[in-house]
Amino acid sequence: MLKSLRDAAHFFDRRIGWSRLGIALSLTIIIVAVVVLYRILRDIDPDSLLDAIEATDWRTLIIAGAFVTAGYLTLTFYDLFALRTIGHPEIPYRVAALAGFTSYAVGHNVGASVFSGGAVRYRIYSAWGLSVIEVTKICFLAGLTFWLGNATVLGLGVLHGAWGLGAAWPCADRAALAANQKERKRLEDDGKVEAQKISKLKDQMSGAKTNEQYRAFQHEIDFCAAAIRKADDRILELMSEAEPLDVNVKGAEAALKEEQKHVEAEKARARERTAAVQKQLDQGKAERKTMVATVKPQTYSTYERVRKKWRGSAVAEALGGRCSACQILLRPQFFQDLRNSEQMMQCESCGRILYYNPPVSFEHDLAAQQP
Ligand SMILES: [Zn+2]
Repeated sequence: MLKSLRDAAHFFDRRIGWSRLGIALSLTIIIVAVVVLYRILRDIDPDSLLDAIEATDWRTLIIAGAFVTAGYLTLTFYDLFALRTIGHPEIPYRVAALAGFTSYAVGHNVGASVFSGGAVRYRIYSAWGLSVIEVTKICFLAGLTFWLGNATVLGLGVLHGAWGLGAAWPCADRAALAANQKERKRLEDDGKVEAQKISKLKDQMSGAKTNEQYRAFQHEIDFCAAAIRKADDRILELMSEAEPLDVNVKGAEAALKEEQKHVEAEKARARERTAAVQKQLDQGKAERKTMVATVKPQTYSTYERVRKKWRGSAVAEALGGRCSACQILLRPQFFQDLRNSEQMMQCESCGRILYYNPPVSFEHDLAAQQP
């Protein structure tokens, strides 16, 4: 059994060779990638993409581009730091950058990034004499670096956008203020009780028979007075503590009110926009109904079929002898018929209904532009 396996391996080595298998595998992966990319991208209209780019502020584009570049650049440093950490500073930056970049690219696209990314790293670093254990360390350190960075960015984000979490802080302040007021009320009540006690004791003291009794009453009165002083001190303390809390709560409430005003205004604007769009939609639907009524049922069913197939784009202009939707060159005879006949004609490639606009003269164009 083993011998036959070995023979097969020898035969494979002699006749085909492992490097050829590797090339074939690489080619297969590239072809699959191209097909997948094509399937993802074929529905994207280049014109609308360009329109979207034109509609975006160029500063936003530059900033976005800079961040993307910086993001990919940082990918190349994970492995560099990890190599320095495990004591292999002799491996140059270009190798570390290649390993870091490709392992992340392959890892995140293939999935199971722990294994696939590790395999890519092993392939690159084994040429530099690193062991499996060392490559594992690199993978771990790169992951650690990533999460440290994540935690840092999260912290900075919280610092910057504290208002997002801020709603929780006035709540704490409000609770502290309520507790403060409750304790003050309790201390005030205690003080009243002590004051009542004192007045009662004074009444009793006036009826004291002996000096000893008198002193005992006096002693108790002093005790109550001390309790009142202590409560008063604590009340003063609580009042000074309450001041900043009060300011915070009032400020937060004002900010909340302001925010609510903004939100209400935003909601009103959104409702207005929705209503306007709904009106447009209703108008469009009504218009469509009247138009459909004038079209032959056969024509309409063809239109609906093409529209469903191409998700809404059922009609295309024939421009320069081409279908402007699929860019297929029309047969000269077909184009000739389209220009001359009144019949409905469909693109022979994509099936869209074609129309032809004869070019207007230059003078006509100018006249149309005059107000
Ligand atoms: Zn077409």
